[in-house]
Amino acid sequence: MTDKIDEILEAARRHCNEVIKPNVDAWNEAGVWPRAASDAAGAAGLTGLYAPEEWGGQGLPLAEGIRVYEELGKGDGAYAFALSMHNICTFAVCGYGTDTFKQKWARDLTSGRKLANFALTEPQSGSDAVTMYTRAQINDDGTWTISGSKAWVSLAGEADVYLTVVKTSDAPGHKDMAMIAIPKDTPGLTFGPRYETPSYEFLPMSEMYLDNVTVSDENIILPIGQGFQGALMAIDIARVSIASGCCGLMEAALDTALAYALRRKMFGGVNLDLEGIQWMLGDVATNLEASRLLYREAARKLGTPEGPVWAAHAKRFVPDAAVDAANTCTQVLGGMGLLKPYGLDRLSRLAQMLRIVDGTTEISRVVIGRALQKRAAALDPVPVPKGYGEG
Ligand SMILES: Cc1cc2nc3c(=O)[nH]c(=O)nc-3n(C[C@H](O)[C@H](O)[C@H](O)COP(=O)(O)OP(=O)(O)OC[C@H]3O[C@@H](n4cnc5c(N)ncnc54)[C@H](O)[C@@H]3O)c2cc1C
Repeated sequence: MTDKIDEILEAARRHCNEVIKPNVDAWNEAGVWPRAASDAAGAAGLTGLYAPEEWGGQGLPLAEGIRVYEELGKGDGAYAFALSMHNICTFAVCGYGTDTFKQKWARDLTSGRKLANFALTEPQSGSDAVTMYTRAQINDDGTWTISGSKAWVSLAGEADVYLTVVKTSDAPGHKDMAMIAIPKDTPGLTFGPRYETPSYEFLPMSEMYLDNVTVSDENIILPIGQGFQGALMAIDIARVSIASGCCGLMEAALDTALAYALRRKMFGGVNLDLEGIQWMLGDVATNLEASRLLYREAARKLGTPEGPVWAAHAKRFVPDAAVDAANTCTQVLGGMGLLKPYGLDRLSRLAQMLRIVDGTTEISRVVIGRALQKRAAALDPVPVPKGYGEG
C-alpha cells in the first residue's frame, strides 16, 4: 500500500469523526444535502480519489481508493455512496472525457467544488437497464439533443453535472448507447419531486426530465457503442464501493452493540456475559471480516476479466451481511436498539438500501449464475445417465 493511501484513509477517518458522525442526524432532519461537508471532503482529498494528479486528483488505484468508503460508511452509508458515485464519475471524466470538457470540469470535480452523478435508471428500466427510452438525436452541427426521463437520480438537483446514458436510435439492444455529460443548468433539464426516504433524507433523489436538452459533442464521455459497457464498468466499481461502505456500517453497528452489551446489567452480570449474545455478535464479527476480505479482493480484480463476477460476489454477500449485522445488533440492545440515539434502526434501513442500489442482490446472483454456466461449459463432461441428458 502506498503512503498516499494511508494519508487519505486517515483523512477519511477524520472526516467521518468530525463531520459525518456529529451531524448526520441534523442533516436528515434538515433534509438538505450537506454541501459544506462535501466541500470539506473535497478539501481533504476525498473527491478525486482515482483521478490523475495532473487534474488535481489523488491518482490512487481503485483497489486502494475504494477503502475510503469503509471509513465514511462508519458515519453514514448514504453519504459514502454519494461520494463514491461522484468519484466514479470524476474518474470517467478524467479518463474518457474530451480535452475541452476536462479543461472545463476536471479540476472542479476532483476538488469537490462541483459534484457529479450518474443517470442510467429510468422509470421502466431499473434492473433491465437495456430497455431504455432516453434518446439523443445528433444534429448537423454535431450537437446532441436529448429527450427522455431518468429515475432514482441521486444528488438530483444538487450535482452540477449528470453523466447520462442515452440511446441514439430506435434499434433494440445496447449497441447504440452512449454516455454524455449534461450540466445542471442546461435548458430543458428539470427534476421531479424528491423521493421521501426515511433514513437518508439529506440525499436528494428524484426523477430527471430531459426535454430537448442540447449539449455539445465535447460533452461525450463514452461514444456510441461504448455507453452501456462503460456504464457496466462504472457499476462494477460502484458495487465494490458499496460493499466497502457496508463494512463501515457493520463495524459501527457491532461497536454500538458491544459498547452497550458490556454495560447493560442483567442476571447478576452484564449482557455481554451471555454466551448467546457473544455468539450473535461473534457471527457479526466473522461476517465483517469475511466481507472485508471479499470486497478488497474484488477491488483488486476490477479492470480484469474476473472483475464483474468478483464485484457481483461482493455486492451479493456484503450488503446482506450488513442487513443481518444491523438487525442482530438492534436485537442485542433489546428495546433500546429501536431508539434513535443508538442509530441502529437507521443502519438497518441504510443496509437495505445498499442491497438495492447499483444492482440488486438478485441481479448479482444473475451475474454469478451466468459465470457458473460458462465455468460448467468449460469442465470435463460428467456422464449423465441415458434419459437424464443428451443421450
Ligand atoms: C438509494 C438509491 C439511489 C440510487 N441512485 C441511482 C443513481 O444515482 N443513478 C441511477 O441511474 N440509478 C440509481 N438508483 C437505481 C438503482 O440502481 C435501481 O433501483 C436498481 O437497479 C433496481 O432497479 P429497480 O428499483 O427499478 O427495481 P426492479 O428492476 O423493478 O426490480 C424489482 C425486483 O425484481 C428483482 N429482479 C430483477 N431482475 C431479476 C431476476 N432476473 N431474477 C430475480 N429477481 C430479479 C430485483 O432484484 C428487485 O428485487 C438508485 C436506487 C436507490 C435505491
